[in-house]
Amino acid sequence: MSRWAYVNGRYVRHRDAAVHIEDRGYQLADGVYEVVGIRDGRLIDEAPHLDRLGRSLSELRIEWPVGRKALEFILREVLRLNGVRDGLVYIQATRGVARRDHAFPKDPTPALVVTAKHTSRPGIDVPGVRVVSRPDNRWDRCDIKTVGLLPNVLAKQSAREAGAWEAWFLDERGDVTEGASTNAWIVSEAGELITRQTDNGILAGITRATVKTICDSLQLKLVERPFSLAEAKRAREAFLSSATSFVTPIVGIDDTTVGDGKPGPVGRRLREEYLRHAGTGDRVT
Ligand code: PLP
Repeated sequence: MSRWAYVNGRYVRHRDAAVHIEDRGYQLADGVYEVVGIRDGRLIDEAPHLDRLGRSLSELRIEWPVGRKALEFILREVLRLNGVRDGLVYIQATRGVARRDHAFPKDPTPALVVTAKHTSRPGIDVPGVRVVSRPDNRWDRCDIKTVGLLPNVLAKQSAREAGAWEAWFLDERGDVTEGASTNAWIVSEAGELITRQTDNGILAGITRATVKTICDSLQLKLVERPFSLAEAKRAREAFLSSATSFVTPIVGIDDTTVGDGKPGPVGRRLREEYLRHAGTGDRVT
């Protein structure tokens, strides 16, 4: 459990941390967020996460609540105060507090919350997870990491109720866009490593980008193109990627077993290399 949080300029006990009821994040989902993984006291891919935060803010015309250097300091302070060595740090920035009105307030002061949590140290060998397919009923700017996550929440809950870990969203053509909180990958029947191209239909995952670089260094050819649910069900392998789940093999899609029902060699290798990458960089706690 996190003991300390940062809320609008102050480090406060987690149990006392609160934002105003008129915060536009709470009222209107008028805000963005980032999640950065921590492994062995190191922030994983901090710079691209903060770059993406800057992009999300600018797409919504919200100012940075504090400068980037100040935010880097706050992240370290929250991690230090909570003694996190393996875990996650969450950054949430909203347009701030204003009298309720859909249109932007004049000269708002953006709000910033930073929290951290401990997670268990991930290993290379994992049993693999199951996913279920659900219609992609989100808006057409899924490239912005906003706090408006209701379709993702409902899809994830429906996956959990179906005994699966993740929901894969399907567009109107029957192609897999991404998971409720992860990007989607397959190794096709023909052995092609595929993940959907990035555009406004999915979030450009930072883990996805790192795995792409790993594929280059391993001379693994990656094709970025749409793939259908039917193609995924026939695939040799499937896996997902995110800051919270790293690279995690998928062993079942709906009622279909993927491959032989065990994590495949490509997903396993990419998980191993991703965890190796996560262990590089400067320790901050
Ligand atoms: N897609 C969605 C919808 C997400 O919410 C996330 C992460 O939260 C991802 C993909 C993976 O992104 P990242 O690798 O940056 O965590």
